Amino acid sequence: MIPSSWPRPSIFQDLGVRPVINACGIYTDLGGSLLSPEIMAACSELNQSWIRMTELLDRTGELIAGWLDVPAARVTPGASAAIALGVGACLVGRDPANWSHLPDTSGLKNEVLLQARHLEQYKYAVCARLAGATLKTAGNSRGTTADELNMAIDSRCAAIFVPAHLEDAATVPLETVAQIARAHGIPVIVDAAYLNFPLVPDASAKDFTGVAKDMMSSFHRRGADLVCFSAKYFWGPNAGGFICGRKDLVDVVAGLDFTRFESGPHKTFGRTFKMNRFDVAATALALRSWLTLDHAGRLAAYSRQVTRLAAMLRDVPGIKTRPAYFTLDEKLVPSPVNCLVVEFGPDAARSVSEVEALLAQRDPRILACVENGALVFVMESVREGDETIIGGSLCEVMKVHA
Ligand SMILES: *Cc1c(COP(=O)(O)O)cnc(C)c1O
Repeated sequence: MIPSSWPRPSIFQDLGVRPVINACGIYTDLGGSLLSPEIMAACSELNQSWIRMTELLDRTGELIAGWLDVPAARVTPGASAAIALGVGACLVGRDPANWSHLPDTSGLKNEVLLQARHLEQYKYAVCARLAGATLKTAGNSRGTTADELNMAIDSRCAAIFVPAHLEDAATVPLETVAQIARAHGIPVIVDAAYLNFPLVPDASAKDFTGVAKDMMSSFHRRGADLVCFSAKYFWGPNAGGFICGRKDLVDVVAGLDFTRFESGPHKTFGRTFKMNRFDVAATALALRSWLTLDHAGRLAAYSRQVTRLAAMLRDVPGIKTRPAYFTLDEKLVPSPVNCLVVEFGPDAARSVSEVEALLAQRDPRILACVENGALVFVMESVREGDETIIGGSLCEVMKVHA
């Protein structure tokens, strides 16, 4: 999708790292996303000058809130930091006298309630504990009822936390969670980190105008008080993200973050989540591009890449290929198309794990994921054109010349 050839700038040699053709998708430990040349140029322009970080964070927050049609927003160094700061804001509330206490919660409400079925599949809950919160669960691994959730709320409960990507038929939906929370006067905080586009966009839909905005603002409409997003998923910086929602709570997040530690009286734990101006600006700019991106065109580009790769592999004996969609929760579904699944039969020259390892040793390294015994090449992170390098390498590894 991201057009270019494969340059080999000397920085790789200089630092002793090998570049990667990433056919796994968007992963933090592979660097997240690629930033567009426009955003890199904007960062370079920002580097010509100092700025006030409070001003940059306040203005970008207002812009993001306006684009998403939510009351307020603030950039953070990732969704993880947004969770820690957002939960912190729920614990301390509006009284600045409390802000420097965290992660010590003596004298404060300090429990954050989750549905047990959510918590057992959710590794980022540790970020809520970083603010000083204790996690409490309602229900069990099979699910939670609205009654169980309601009964679990006591005077120590500071917020209910919902990892929105884990909502399913066995858990209480966000709308109901919000109703219950509101009756108790406590906020709902949502991790919507990768829900910046529909999990499986309808392949037949041709008009994607506004689809990203609708998706990202839906959690606020459904009753969430605070919603956390990660910039890595909207082609922003790996260390970018934001929190949005209720203005009074976002204002507390601003009070807890690194800016007030430096230029205010508050010695807050949020000082840890320092940002540089490039990541703040790039997060806002990447979001704006994402909201106006032609998402039908984005999907069409993946489809072309998959077709090209499949054509190159047509004559490799013993393998079978099929286009599919690799979801952000790492499942293969038939449509729309964003990846090529390569299955290795008994008569293939090599096994799937051999091929995976050989591709990863090349220069540039080619990384793909293994799913259900097949090798999956996800085009969401493959620059347009690089699929031919993948195809050529795969043929070579299989000792067949394309
Ligand atoms: C990546 C991710 C996060 C963390 O986001 P960062 O911006 O990397 O801190 C949180 N929740 C989910 C579901 C994620 O996929």
